[in-house]
This record gives sequence, C-alpha cells and structure tokens, in this order.
Amino acid sequence: MDTCLTDSTTPVPLGTAAQRRTLSARVAWGDHVVTVGGGAPVRVQSMTNTDTADAVATAIQVKELALAGSELVRITVNNDEAAKAVPYIREQLDRMGIQVPLIGDFHYNGHKLLTDHPDCAQALSKYRINPGNVGRGDKRDRQFGQMIEAAVRYDKAVRIGVNWGSLDQDLLAALMDENARRVQPWEARQVMYEALITSALDSARAAEELGLAPGQITLSCKVSGVQDLIAVYQELARRCNYPLHLGLTEAGMGTKGTVASTAALAVLLQQGIGDTIRVSLTPQPGEARTQEVVVATEILQALGLRAFVPSVTACPGCGRTTSSVFQELAKQIDDHLRASMPVWRARYPGVENLKVAVMGCIVNGPGESKHADIGISLPGTGEAPAAPVFIDGEKALTLRGAGIADEFQQIVQNYIEKKFGQPA
Ligand code: SF4
Repeated sequence: MDTCLTDSTTPVPLGTAAQRRTLSARVAWGDHVVTVGGGAPVRVQSMTNTDTADAVATAIQVKELALAGSELVRITVNNDEAAKAVPYIREQLDRMGIQVPLIGDFHYNGHKLLTDHPDCAQALSKYRINPGNVGRGDKRDRQFGQMIEAAVRYDKAVRIGVNWGSLDQDLLAALMDENARRVQPWEARQVMYEALITSALDSARAAEELGLAPGQITLSCKVSGVQDLIAVYQELARRCNYPLHLGLTEAGMGTKGTVASTAALAVLLQQGIGDTIRVSLTPQPGEARTQEVVVATEILQALGLRAFVPSVTACPGCGRTTSSVFQELAKQIDDHLRASMPVWRARYPGVENLKVAVMGCIVNGPGESKHADIGISLPGTGEAPAAPVFIDGEKALTLRGAGIADEFQQIVQNYIEKKFGQPA
C-alpha cells in the first residue's frame, strides 16, 4: 500500500500570536489610564459620526461605543463650534460615569483650534495629527510644532496618523523624484509605501525633537487595500518600536468591510503587529455605529488575543435540521449575552470567557457541547424530540417541548450567577 504516514516525536506547536516589543503609550482621563503597547492587551477604539458641535448627541454616541467595548473614542474636531463642545461632551460623560478617553481628530486647523480653545485641548486625552493635513510649505513645520507643543503643555498622547488619501504631497513628490534617479526604479506602489512610512517616522522624530516623550506617541499608516496594509505595517513595525494603531481605512460596508478588515488585521495581529485597532465600517442604513466595535472585539476574540463577551458556538445547520429552532435559539442566546455585558462586566468578573454551544443535531451536538462550559444539542430530523444540556462536560438534564429556548436561557443565567457571581 502506498501511504505516507510518518510518526512525529514532537507535538504540533500550540497556535499563538507573536508578540512585538513596543514602547508603552499612556492615554489617560483622570485616574482612568488606558495603556497602548508595551505588552498591554490590544486596545479597541472607534470613532463617532455625530456632529461634534452637538454635544448631547456626541456624548450619547460615545457612551454607546464605550459600553459596546470601545476603550478609546475619537471625535472630529473640525471647527470652533466643535472645539467649544468638547469640554461639555467630556463633562456629560463624566456625569454619566463614562471615563473613556477622548481623542480629538484634527485636520488643517488643529494648530489653531488647540491654541484658541485651551479647554478643548485639556478635555481631550489624545490628539490625532495627520502629517499630510497640517499645512504645506513653510507653514507645515510651524503648524505641526504648535500641535505638538499643545500635547507637551497639556501632557497628552499623540497619534501620528498618516493616510494614503491625504499623504504629504511634497514628500511623495520628492520620493518619486528620487525613485526616477534609481538604476532600477521601484514600482509606484512601493514608493507610496515608502512615503507613508517616512511621513510617520519623520513626524515622530520631529515630535520628539519638540519635546514629546517617545511614550506619548502612537503611529498609524492607513490604506484601504489589504495587501498594501499588511506590507506597510510589516515594514513600519520593522523600523520602529512605537505602538501601532491598526486599521484598514475606508473598509466599506457590511460583509465586504468586515471581511476585508478581518483579513488584514488578523494577518498583522498574528505577527504581533498592532497595539490598538479600529474597524472603519460604513454603517448600513439603520445600522448602529457600535457595529464597528462589535467587529473589532470579535476579531481580537477570534484570534484568542482578548475576550469581551461570552462566545456562542453554533453549527451552520444542514439537511438534518429542518426547523429553524436552533438558529433562533443561537441568536436568542447570543443577543442576550451581548446585551447583558454592560451590566455583567462589573457583576460577573470573568464571564467574558464563558463558552456556550448551541448545536443542531446529534452528529456534532453532544461533542461540541461537552467542549463548551454549557451546551445544548437540539433534535435533528428523525431524532427524539429531546435536547440534552451539557454543563462542564457532563450531561446535566434534557429539555423538551415548546419552552426549550427560555428554559435554556435561564439555565445559562443560573450557571453564570453560580460560577461568576461575587459573594454578597
Ligand atoms: S451538528 Fe448536525 S445539524 Fe449541525 S451541521 Fe452538523 S450534522 Fe448538521
């Protein structure tokens, strides 16, 4: 028989993401400190899409994003009205007990807004500076310097956020000229990669020369192509040890945006590249802004880098399941767990590591349910109308009848109370 079986004397290595050594950046509001890089967990961040001048609407959306799991929230600061609203937004969040640090997103006039509105400069925890949008010619260095001086004066962190849609055109032109003089010129895309990276690194160096501590700096170089993003960040990570903010810019809507972001971020995170992430989804009509936070947390959780909500393992269903009962149950449990997390986070420490299985039939149902903390195997076509429930790997009881969904949800709730509840 022609087979190629071989013995292995060593086990297959455990799957795990690499770790990159970076500086540690501190983003703080009062006593609430979010550390980015330096071995801290990969942080989730998001951005509002309200008019910042509408302080109430913006504070409400920041709260929603924070409760969904966003540890840093960025807001647009584009004019005097927005800058004036920032301290009120901060005040309202503080009053609601939401300590999430706010990042001000500045383009074109950030130097002026931070100078003219000291309360805004103080209320923000971090400034996002786009080196391609701070001014051109001799104004560029002066205006960039003004923003860095504000960060130094108010002891704020800075993200130097380069974006290929607003790349420093003078720098790109200089690198194009340099490329033209090469014996073997690089491809245009490679010159663009180099311009993105050079813009970020040169700006970081300039910020340090102006007195900003290296530990106050995070870098990003966002592009909208998956392979471009991976190539740029791999090189950026090789050339510096600043914490990196990762995100596929303008990822798009729905499935496309989710898949493209996941594909790009997963490759880099697995290589240890990326200290904070944002998923830039275009919301579908009627879709909550928090969807970008859900996707970001799911990426980190799927890679085993962090846990945010209990996970529900559910089979896809097949010809053995002719009813939609198990789909409805999986959704009901998933919705319930996710909706309960803002309260459970404080009440049940560690509940985010819970694993629940909802399976459609006997083929993989009992096995998968045993691997979970708590699982249910629903009856498939032709099977007895009974749903065994497994708790901590053991069959605990069997549910029957029309009330299976509610009964199982209650069993999950009781399990959580017993396992993660704190003594009174
Ligand atoms: S567990 Fe059963 S119902 Fe679910 S996919 Fe497998 S065979 Fe189909």
